Amino acid sequence: MQEFTTPIAGLIEAFSKLPGIGRKTAQRLAFHVISMDGKEVTQLAKAIIEAKKNIRYCAHCANFTDTETCSLCNNPKRDATTICVVEDPRDVVAMEKTREYKGLYHVLHGAISPLDGIGPEDIKVKELVERVGAEPVEEIILATNPTIEGEATAMYLARLFKPMGIKVTRIGYGIPVGGDLEYVDEVTLLKAMEGRKTL
Ligand SMILES: [Zn+2]
Repeated sequence: MQEFTTPIAGLIEAFSKLPGIGRKTAQRLAFHVISMDGKEVTQLAKAIIEAKKNIRYCAHCANFTDTETCSLCNNPKRDATTICVVEDPRDVVAMEKTREYKGLYHVLHGAISPLDGIGPEDIKVKELVERVGAEPVEEIILATNPTIEGEATAMYLARLFKPMGIKVTRIGYGIPVGGDLEYVDEVTLLKAMEGRKTL
């Protein structure tokens, strides 16, 4: 006999596929949704569908946005001569929390990982090269994660951009090796940015 009736089992299954959600939490969420009133459930479902439908990559930096280009790229006060390269849109959020960085970003949406068959062509490297060719970029700050993949990506990008006469720096100070940028606190991140080294 099945543990739960099919629609509940389906909902539990769907929740348990989300990151950080184990079986128990998935069950709790599923039962909570069932107990919510119909209007609330519709709002929740609509919010998910609308977010998925309206969020896209910024045509400029590949950050998430609901317009053609994101609010950071559209802001004339941001310094267009500096690009901070990150792996994930969540890293932009982490970086912005420091309130110190005034340049622009470029989101790679991943990192080079030969073991997983992910090469430069699988992440937004080509778009970055195009930007550097077309914009007044003076410095590229490599803020990929301090993991094997993040380091490999930083090395690859440094080799790509240094011959173009661009200052290439790598954040480092205080970020634990193997750590995830997204989870580093603002002070550490700020120190890491200040302590960046020229590659
Ligand atoms: Zn943008």
